[in-house]
Amino acid sequence: MHSQLAPGITRIATSKRDNAFLVEGDDGFTLVDVGWSKAPGALLHTVADLGRRPSDIRRVILTHAHPDHVQGAAELRRHTGAHILIHDADRAWLEAGRVPAQGRSGAIGRLIDHLPKLHWAPTTADGIVSDGDMVEGSDGLRVIHTPGHSPGHIVLLHEPSRTILMGDAAFNRGKLAIGPAALAADPDLRLGSLARIPQDLQAVGFAHGVPLAGSEVHTFQQFLQQLPRES
Ligand SMILES: [Zn+2]
Ligand SMILES: [Zn+2]
Repeated sequence: MHSQLAPGITRIATSKRDNAFLVEGDDGFTLVDVGWSKAPGALLHTVADLGRRPSDIRRVILTHAHPDHVQGAAELRRHTGAHILIHDADRAWLEAGRVPAQGRSGAIGRLIDHLPKLHWAPTTADGIVSDGDMVEGSDGLRVIHTPGHSPGHIVLLHEPSRTILMGDAAFNRGKLAIGPAALAADPDLRLGSLARIPQDLQAVGFAHGVPLAGSEVHTFQQFLQQLPRES
């Protein structure tokens, strides 16, 4: 299932709960996140629906190295030849094929990371992105480093459409939220990271939950404004 979130941005539901985003650029598509191991099927199906070829996905940019975002990445690269990009602070996790013990602040997080179904094929990054970078070839996708959920978590601002793709920096499953602290690497960093997100937006995409567009974006701006300030 897919739908247009903003001009040049297609939201793809890779499962009932998870979204990836296809961004049209100068040289083809930049895919933001992949999903679980079954996600490549849905992603390639959407590309075909749009009348395009798998090789039109030129690069994959991962918001962070958690299994629900990266598990399908190696297989998608095999089908498309896309380059995989990630922030340097999450690169070792991507290449290890699992979240390490220090990657979650709470015992529950560390416990679930022992489950083999939350591991993935160790995946080499083809490139690294940093705060402030414009993703090459993406036609206007800007990297904002938002550590907390993971050390190398990023959100992506599509400048031409003023659309922000939030990864797991915020969730919109029923209501807007920052997610369980136990699953975050350093939960205390999350508020400072959210404070870095611009508020002049036309659309907001979440890796988990319902996107917001047009007048709905107001609820996201209110959510950002009402978060407690860091001391
Ligand atoms: Zn995550
Ligand atoms: Zn996630």
